[in-house]
Amino acid sequence: MRLTQRIVVVGGGVLGTMHAVAARRRGYEVVHLEREAEARGASARNFGLVWVSGRRAGAELGLALRARELWEGLATEVPGLGFRAAGSLTVAADDAELRLLKEAAALPDAKQRGFELLDPGAVRAVNPALRGEVAGGLLCRADAIVEPRRVLPALRGYLAGDGYDWLADREVTEIAPNAVRDHTGAWHQCDLVILCTGAVFTGVVGRYLGYLARDGVRRVRLQMMQTAPLAQQLTTAVADGDSLRYYPAYDLPGRHQLPPQSPVAEQARAQLLMVQRADGSLTMGDTHEYGEPFAFDVDEDSYDHLRDRAEALLGTPIPRVQRRWAGVYSEVGPAAADHSLYHRSEVEPGVVLVTGPGGRGMTCAPAIAEETFR
Ligand SMILES: Cc1cc2nc3c(=O)[nH]c(=O)nc-3n(C[C@H](O)[C@H](O)[C@H](O)COP(=O)(O)OP(=O)(O)OC[C@H]3O[C@@H](n4cnc5c(N)ncnc54)[C@H](O)[C@@H]3O)c2cc1C
Repeated sequence: MRLTQRIVVVGGGVLGTMHAVAARRRGYEVVHLEREAEARGASARNFGLVWVSGRRAGAELGLALRARELWEGLATEVPGLGFRAAGSLTVAADDAELRLLKEAAALPDAKQRGFELLDPGAVRAVNPALRGEVAGGLLCRADAIVEPRRVLPALRGYLAGDGYDWLADREVTEIAPNAVRDHTGAWHQCDLVILCTGAVFTGVVGRYLGYLARDGVRRVRLQMMQTAPLAQQLTTAVADGDSLRYYPAYDLPGRHQLPPQSPVAEQARAQLLMVQRADGSLTMGDTHEYGEPFAFDVDEDSYDHLRDRAEALLGTPIPRVQRRWAGVYSEVGPAAADHSLYHRSEVEPGVVLVTGPGGRGMTCAPAIAEETFR
């Protein structure tokens, strides 16, 4: 059997770039194509949360923990990732949320997640910037943060040199066995093509929607914002009690005792996640829109809600919002074959499509790339 020598990766997001890293580490030559001058899809628009806390017990938690290990290892070689083992605090606003956090802290895998239940005083001791009224919190030591706007260029800088060709502004418009053609007409022959085209389901990927349909892959749109720098340090990432309604780790009896969400949060499927960037600003979100066609504008009611929640936790007005944006990711549906955590299929001989990691894509990308090469 001939060994794979040359790999073409399509898509400069975190999945494509982590596949490029994994391929170079295994000694393959890599040609990496991206249709934009700089990738600016979901991978640049996210929180940069390497999020272990909310993962479902079993395979999902295992994938996230392995990815967390790989991120930490990479960070020793690529300081530009901005990796911080900051942990997270999921904060309870009332007794019902606190009871659910207690159940989570008693899970058999709580130790792997680094869970510790904290009373209000301990919440403030761990994260003194949280000066609002809280009923308690769940510390997750395994959670970490990277800087999403820096990760991709930092990884490409690490890869730069012989054996790695980064070709920006090249849209792949044709796919054949073991080859792709970009819009300039150039063909790129190789031993294996890895398509990491994210939430783009038109163009060349449009031919393969049948494969995606098997895993019920769908697209989700989220609203985000970023403030001016906060004077205080937010020592951990922060999640509010609404996050307990969405993450599978909290699918415990106490979830059914939670009071209804506020109508705005329910309508927008909102939760507050808040991460301090390296420059002191706060990235905050998010909402979840599933019905296409997606809105092309952003909704201020959701932002008002998220701002109120953040101010309630911080006990102070947040700095001025400087940026707002929306992002779209693709995710395998709840009925995905074999409960897949993402989608991988060989759509042509020697052409593999990898997409659909959903809201865990930034977290899990290094481990997903590792699995592709396994
Ligand atoms: C707002 C938001 C917040 C999130 N927060 C988190 C988080 O904190 N933690 C977490 O784990 N996950 C998070 N996620 C999910 C995560 O960001 C995604 O799962 C992940 O970034 C997907 O990476 P990707 O490389 O598949 O897609 P993308 O980043 O979208 O990259 C795909 C790339 O392919 C390129 N491309 C497409 N078609 C072609 C073509 N024909 N030719 C050449 N190039 C092409 C696109 O231009 C794009 O750059 C979040 C997502 C969003 C939207």
